[in-house]
This record gives sequence, structure tokens and C-alpha cells, in this order.
Amino acid sequence: MSTAQLVRVASFLSFPWLRHGFSTRQGGRSSVYGGSSLNLGWTREDEPANVHQNRSAFVQEVSGNGAPMKLVTVRQIHSAIVQTAGAEAFDAKLETEDGKAVLEGDGLITNTPGVLIAAGTADCVPVLVVDPVLRAVGAFHAGWRGTVAGIVGEGIALMRQEYGSEPGNLVAAIGPSIGSCCYTVGEEVREQFSAAYPYSADLFQEKASSEGAPSLTVDLWEANRRQLLDAGLSFGNVSVVGECTACTRMENGERRYFSHRDEHGHAGRMLNAIGIVAIA
Ligand SMILES: [Zn+2]
Repeated sequence: MSTAQLVRVASFLSFPWLRHGFSTRQGGRSSVYGGSSLNLGWTREDEPANVHQNRSAFVQEVSGNGAPMKLVTVRQIHSAIVQTAGAEAFDAKLETEDGKAVLEGDGLITNTPGVLIAAGTADCVPVLVVDPVLRAVGAFHAGWRGTVAGIVGEGIALMRQEYGSEPGNLVAAIGPSIGSCCYTVGEEVREQFSAAYPYSADLFQEKASSEGAPSLTVDLWEANRRQLLDAGLSFGNVSVVGECTACTRMENGERRYFSHRDEHGHAGRMLNAIGIVAIA
């Protein structure tokens, strides 16, 4: 049993009261997706007991040396709905008896120490945000629908409203997710982006394809980066991990991440978590 292998960003590591991590496939006990993997989602195929163990290994790894933090997720629906998670998370009001999310939406914010908020993904874009001045955080799930709907902008608006966050102080990281190298989409995706964003042409590329008609790809990393900048974050405060969940391989050739697209729907889920702990 190995420990959960996480991806972390340098811009978050300088805050001693901040905990975060983007999970990978490595370090878990699920076997249904090949090898032994860290599936953190309540998928139909996997044993709930495995998911429970994987989740607690992940939470312990993110929490570090301290007590395990209280994980909070949402029932994701590809929306721009963002929920607030406070101290009520500790008496399990935000999850069912079997550990499933109660709140519906695609983003969470908190400023409660010990609460670990997370977005679940298997190609969709996870965006983590921290307010280092007021010690508040956000975790957002942005697939193409959530990105069109402007989930990160909604999340930052809620951080301003609830905590008084100044966007210019915020630091954000766009985590591992499907890159424009692999994310082929239909024309309806381009239509929805062009109806909503004046710069949408910058996000799409047509690539020659062996099957005749050129294939259309979208860059959701850039789309979310632009939305963070539009929300008032400064250029240097937005980092992009830049690893594609569909095509990144380990040195031994194994997949580094779960990919819904590349594994044809038979994929586990990663969690992308952030929270604050009570230290001076
Ligand atoms: Zn790729």
C-alpha cells in the first residue's frame, strides 16, 4: 500500500496555513481500473470500501502531519452554482451517512479551518483559489459546460460577497485536466463559447484529421485562465499545471491520471482539494 501521489503548485506552498493537492491515479487500492489506483469517486464499478480507504489516504496526505481535515464535496451537475461550506461540515451535515455529497453545484468556498473542499474530475478542469490575506479558499469544477457558464467568475464573486476577498490578492491554480492536445469537441461547443465570450476564437483550433473533416479542439485551461483574469486576478497569480489527463504517461508508460475521454467512460475520479488549518 503506497501513499497517495499528489501534484502540488509552488505558488500555494509558501503559505504554512494552507493545504492543497491534486490527486493522480497513484497510491490507491482500487483494482477495477487496472493496476491499483486511487479512485476517489463513488463510481458504479468500484467497491465503496476501496473508495473510502482511498479518500482517507488522500485526506491524510493533504492534511500533512496534523489531524485529518474534514472533506467536503458537492454533487456536480456542470453548472455555475457555488456553495459555502462552514463549520456545519464537522457534524456531517454536508454528507450522507455513506459519505456522499449533499450540496449540489460545481464549486465550494470556505474560510473555516479544518474544512477541506474538493472538486472531483476525470478530464474536467479543477481550479483552486486562495485568498492569502483573509485566509479563504475556493475549489471549482469546470468542464466545458461549467466553463461556458463562468463557474470561476461566480466563485470569485461569492468569495468577495462572503469574505470580502479582493480579487487582486487572490492566487489561483488550474490543475491537471484534458488539454487542447486531446480535447476534440463538436461545433455546438464553439457556438456556445462564441455567444458568451468575445475572445472565444482564441480558444479553438481546427486540426487536420486523417478522417477527412478537420477536428475542432478547445483549450479549457486558457478559457479558465482568461475568466480568472477577467475576475480581477493578476497575471502572475494564475498558474497552470499544464498536464493533460488524457495523454500524460509515467516513465513506465502507465497513465498518470484518470481520463473519462481517453478511457471511454470507464475511469475513476481524481479529487482536487484545498483548505486552511488553524495555525498562526
Ligand atoms: Zn493530451
